[in-house]
Amino acid sequence: MADPYLAGLLLAGRRVVVVGGGTVAQRRVTGLLAAGADVEVVAPGCTPAVEAMAAAGELRWSARGYADGDLDGAWYAVACTDDPAVNAAVGEEAEHRHVFCVRADDAAAGSAVTPAVGQHDGLMVGVLAGGNPRRSAAVRTALVEALHAGLVDDTADPVTPGVALVGGGPGDPELITVRGRRLLARADVVVTDRLGPRDLLDQLGPHVEVIDASKIPYGRAMNQARINELLVEHAQAGRFVVRLKGGDPYVFGRGFEEVLACAEAGVPVTVVPGVTSAFAAPAVADVPVSHRGVAHEIVVVSGHVAPGDPRSLVDWAALGRLRGTVVLLMAVERIGAFAAALMDGGRAPGTPVAVVQDGTMRIQRSVRATLATVAQVVREREIHPPAVVVVGEVAGLAP
Ligand code: SAH
Repeated sequence: MADPYLAGLLLAGRRVVVVGGGTVAQRRVTGLLAAGADVEVVAPGCTPAVEAMAAAGELRWSARGYADGDLDGAWYAVACTDDPAVNAAVGEEAEHRHVFCVRADDAAAGSAVTPAVGQHDGLMVGVLAGGNPRRSAAVRTALVEALHAGLVDDTADPVTPGVALVGGGPGDPELITVRGRRLLARADVVVTDRLGPRDLLDQLGPHVEVIDASKIPYGRAMNQARINELLVEHAQAGRFVVRLKGGDPYVFGRGFEEVLACAEAGVPVTVVPGVTSAFAAPAVADVPVSHRGVAHEIVVVSGHVAPGDPRSLVDWAALGRLRGTVVLLMAVERIGAFAAALMDGGRAPGTPVAVVQDGTMRIQRSVRATLATVAQVVREREIHPPAVVVVGEVAGLAP
């Protein structure tokens, strides 16, 4: 077979016929729809995902077998039934009508082949490997990851100055989002916290200025004001600033204060949500925050002030009456007071509790206890922040 000629098809509004409704069809259809194609799926049965796309009006599904003439008016066709004879018939009609056609069962018998594709910031990568799909997929993945990580210089469009508020996830560098990582790779300035994926900072280029916000030498309140100022100052000096936060920026991360400060100064802000430690730390310690028949509610509570403190906005008595899961952040130091407040509110002393320290990090540790014993267990086992405390029956489910 001669080498294929690599082209990008502009399929917006153009008729594409996919014959077959299985998982191959499902995979092709998503790319075709992303290109704006007018897709018809012809198949007696199809996967629930394809059926849902038909129900949502994203494509048409003709629930029947292929018949000669189905390619009438098509610009492109995909033959992906599990019957080679049907695929061959589709291929023949396509040949006859001069419609390019992919044969999923026998690439060489078709007139087009599907590359492994990947995307990065408006860039599309397509890889063909002479009929070796593992190789093309591996090269595609490596290229896209290198682009996301900023290892390939992709300076086509300069980043516009401003601030990206990026949730970095709970600490494991693999738990940042793809968008978060991509923006981090384009930063001129990165303002970090104590928590979050510190390992990713190693990968930044030498020109990137890293400011450790946890080392700003003021009190707590001043600290935040100074961080806001720094974000605004650097953005106004024409730089792209990534504010890298632990977990999700809005889960007890003061992220919205930073957004407001930028907005007030007229600095554009992008927010990238993150994987919060409230859910991730329990998950990696085998505690599901919800479970069928066990917990139908999950409440995430900040422990940064004690129960009874005039600044507290938490209704501990109401939390004590809950049957579901209570997740406490910033709560290890005062765990005794929180456990007592929940029991005072009515939660049973025998309620299971799990405490997960440094969740998703190499040094992760976790302990199990009950509401009655957790304060003592935390002290004896020398659990220290950052840790997530999970109270509820879910903490007692053994894997
Ligand atoms: N925005 C963050 C939370 C900030 S509050 C998020 O969404 O995860 C800081 C608290 O988060 C810590 O006191 C601790 O309770 C929790 N925390 C953050 N990272 C953690 C980790 N890797 N393991 C356990 N707890 C963590």
